[in-house]
Amino acid sequence: MVEQAFGEFRKIVGEEFAREDGQKTEKYHRCTIPVERAIEGVLLPGSAEEIQRIVAVANRYEIALYPISTGKNWGYGSANPVRDRCVILDLSRMNRIVEVNEELAYAVIEPGVTQRCLYEKLTSEKTGLMMDPTGSGPACSVLGNALERGYGITPYGDHFASTCGMEIVLPNGEILRTGFGHFGAAKAANVYKYGVGPYLDGLFTQSNFGIVTKIGLWLMPVPERFEVCYFSGEKESDLNPLIDAVRWLLLHRVVKGSINLVHRNRVLTMLTRYPWEEMSGKTPLDEAVYGRMAAHKKVGAWNGVTALYGAREEVGAAKKIIKRVLRGKASRINFVSEKTLHLAERFPKLIGAMTGMNMSEVLKALRPSFAIMKGRPGEVSLPTPYWRMKKPVPPCDIDPAADNCGLIWLAPVVPMTKENAEEFIGVVRPIFARHGFEDCITFTAVNERSFDCTLPILYDKNDPAETRRAAECHEELLRGCMDKGYIPYRLGIQSMAGLVEGDDVFWDVIQKLKQALDPGGIISPGRYSRI
Ligand code: ADP
Repeated sequence: MVEQAFGEFRKIVGEEFAREDGQKTEKYHRCTIPVERAIEGVLLPGSAEEIQRIVAVANRYEIALYPISTGKNWGYGSANPVRDRCVILDLSRMNRIVEVNEELAYAVIEPGVTQRCLYEKLTSEKTGLMMDPTGSGPACSVLGNALERGYGITPYGDHFASTCGMEIVLPNGEILRTGFGHFGAAKAANVYKYGVGPYLDGLFTQSNFGIVTKIGLWLMPVPERFEVCYFSGEKESDLNPLIDAVRWLLLHRVVKGSINLVHRNRVLTMLTRYPWEEMSGKTPLDEAVYGRMAAHKKVGAWNGVTALYGAREEVGAAKKIIKRVLRGKASRINFVSEKTLHLAERFPKLIGAMTGMNMSEVLKALRPSFAIMKGRPGEVSLPTPYWRMKKPVPPCDIDPAADNCGLIWLAPVVPMTKENAEEFIGVVRPIFARHGFEDCITFTAVNERSFDCTLPILYDKNDPAETRRAAECHEELLRGCMDKGYIPYRLGIQSMAGLVEGDDVFWDVIQKLKQALDPGGIISPGRYSRI
C-alpha cells in the first residue's frame, strides 16, 4: 500500500522530494524529548496545488500525513508526528514571501519562510518594518510558530493575533481562504481579520483540520525610538512586588510589548554550562554553587527585561513611569539604547568602572537579547538545552535536536498575581528537586493579565536513567500543574493522548468537527484531538 502510494507521490513531487523512511530521513527522527516515532517517509511538496494532489492520494490509500513547516518544534517533539506511521509533509520548500505591503505593514508568507528569511527581506529592502522573533532561532518557521500560538516580546508578540487571513488545503483537497480571502475581489483580506460570518482561523491553530499554506502577517513599523529595560530583584521574595509592578505597567499600557521575569537559574543556563568539575560530577546543582555563579555573573534572583518602542517623547515618558513604578521593588534598573550599547562596546573599561559591572560579560549577554527585542532573530536562548551536555555549544547554527540535547518544555499559563505565582512555584519546585533537575523558571507576560511560565527540563539524553527521570519529571509536573489549574498553552506530542482523555464536551465538539472535515482521518491524527 505505502509503496504504491509513494509511486504516486513521486509523480507529484518528483523523485528527490518523495523519500520513504531510511532515504535521507534521519533528521526527522531526531528529537530533544525522549520519544521517537516510526514514520513511513517524507514528502517535500513545492506548492499548494501539489499538496492538493498528495491529499487525494493519501485519502485513497488511507495514509496519514503530518504537515510541518520547518519541523524544529524543539522540546515539544521536533518533526516527530503525534502517532506512528504517518508520512511527514515537510513544507520547508514552500518558502516564498508572497507580498510585503510597506504602507499597510503586513506580509503574506508561506510555511517555509524562516525567521531569518523574513528578517533579511524586511531589512535588505529597507521596508521600515520589523518582525517579532521568537527565541527559537533564525532557522524556525514564522508560520509554524503562529499556528502553535507562540510568542515574542515586541508589541506584535502574540503571533496568532498578528495573523490576518489564511490559505488552507482541507483534508478533502479543497482550498479554504479565511476572513475576506474567499471573496475574490476582497480588498481588505490581509488588513481585516474577521471577514463576515463565523471567524474560522483559530480552528486551524493547534489542531489537525487542515494544512496551512499561506498566512497574512501584520508587522510593526520600526519605531522612532527603541530602548531595552533591564531590572532585577536580588532576593526570591522580590518576585511578589515585581509581579504587581509588571501587571500595573501592562494593564496601563505603559509597556506595549511583553515583560519577562527570568529566574537566576534560567539566566545561568543561557550564560554558562553546568559546572561539572565544581560539582564533582554530581547533579542537581546545589544552592552554594548557584550562589557563587550568580554573584560572579551579577545575576539577581529574578531578572526583568522588557523593551520600549515608540515616538521619542513616548519612550521618554514611559521610562519615567517605569522608574517610578519599580522604585523600591527592583534593586537595579537600567535602560539601554543603541547609543549606550555602542558606547559600552567602544569603552568597556570606562563604562565598567562607572557602573561597577564586568562589561565584557555584560555585553556578551546583552547584545543578542537586545537584537531579538529589536526584531532580529538570534540564538541567545539556544544554549539552554546544552546546560548538562559535556560538549561545547556550537558558535552558530545551533540545533539542539541534531546535537542530541535533552530538552522537554512545559509551558503552563499562570494568572498575573503574586498569589498564583507563589502557588505555582510551590507546585513545580519540589517536583524538579525530587527528580534531580534544576528549576529554570521564566514568567513571560503573554498579555496584560497572564504569564506563560516556560519550564525547561534539561537532561543528558546520553544517560538512559536520567532520560527516564526527565520523562517522569515532565509527567509529574504536567499532572501537578493541571490539578492546580495551571494548564499549558501548548503541549508536546507525548502529552496529546492524555489531554483529550475522559468526558469533556470540548473534545466532543473537536471530534465532531474532525469527523466532518476529515472523515478519513488523514491529517495529523491525534494532534490536540482524540482522532
Ligand atoms: P518550527 O520549526 O517553527 O518549530 P514546526 O514546523 O515544527 O515549527 O511547527 C510546529 C507544529 O505545528 C508542527 O509539529 C505541526 O504539527 C504544526 N504545523 C506546522 N506547520 C503547519 C502547517 N503548515 N499546517 C498545519 N500544521 C502545521
